[in-house]
Amino acid sequence: MIVEMSQTADADEARALQETLAARFGAVHTVWSATGRLVVCHSAGDDAEPGEVAGLAGVRRVVTSPGPYHLAARALRPAGSRVRVHGVEFGGPGFVVLAGPCAVESTDQLARSAEAVAGAGAALLRGGAYKPRTSPYAFQGLGVEGLRMLGRQRAVSGLGVVSEATQPEEVAKVAEHVDMVQIGTRNMQNYALLKEAGRCGRPVLLKRGFAATAEEWLCAAEYIMSEGNPDVVLCERGIRGYGRETRFTLDLAIVPVVKRLSHLPVVVDPSHATGVPELVVPMTLAAAAAGADGVIVDVHADPSAALCDGGQALLPDDFKALMGDLERVLVACGRELERP
Ligand code: PEP
Ligand code: MN
Repeated sequence: MIVEMSQTADADEARALQETLAARFGAVHTVWSATGRLVVCHSAGDDAEPGEVAGLAGVRRVVTSPGPYHLAARALRPAGSRVRVHGVEFGGPGFVVLAGPCAVESTDQLARSAEAVAGAGAALLRGGAYKPRTSPYAFQGLGVEGLRMLGRQRAVSGLGVVSEATQPEEVAKVAEHVDMVQIGTRNMQNYALLKEAGRCGRPVLLKRGFAATAEEWLCAAEYIMSEGNPDVVLCERGIRGYGRETRFTLDLAIVPVVKRLSHLPVVVDPSHATGVPELVVPMTLAAAAAGADGVIVDVHADPSAALCDGGQALLPDDFKALMGDLERVLVACGRELERP
């Protein structure tokens, strides 16, 4: 259950209300939202009647959410939430395309990708500076130097930039240089990292763990939101399957599922999900038709020379063609591309 305090509640009233709720529910957790303080009351089973607290002094409204997540639950914002990143909005009528190389490799490589994706109409530029690689011997990313390159491309291209933080100590540094902090699939349940992302002051792109249920994914979002950051965008990037034809199994049905469970915007990563450039096109179109709020697509000017995930990257011309196909599907769905 979430208790939203009235905006006129003064400090004494707020304290008294929190004490009353804590006595009833055990520990309560307070976060600030645009409309005032939200007190999360989580009790096992959450069997409290809303009427029990609705009449208490200082209460504006009570939102029932059975848990285990509350702030991420649809009930809090039935109309859906919108997340703004560098002038681009997730969760509104516009479909957001984030694109760029998997990893930032050099100034020239990033510039070529940025030029290609900006020219084709992408809304945000992606690029990893800290890379969580399966093998310790694989390219691990350029670190801070990569973040600086992203910052420079941001100035040149005008596009907001998105990059991953892989451990709590990196979050502040990443947040300083980019417009949106990405949490990768391997870290979806790294709770120290999620909490740090909740305090970083930037919107967060939260990828689904490749073996995570919808509930575990939304609990991960709750970790970020419970630290006071409401700006979370979910990203379905494929779950572990058994076929070898695709890298992972894109779970498109989870898009309408989490949209029913949560008010958070949801995007799809067809590149990491399939690992096959030819499949990125139909899966992007399918994501749009399934009601996703956007896609994140790997694009590289010279995939054969890429230091990370070149095999799944689209060439600039193929990305441009994809954007044309996508616009036609969006029109058919009564939507449009979100422009930077
Ligand atoms: C990425 O987007 O660069 C990435 C590493 O993705 P994932 O965490 O989904 O594997
Ligand atoms: Mn990758």
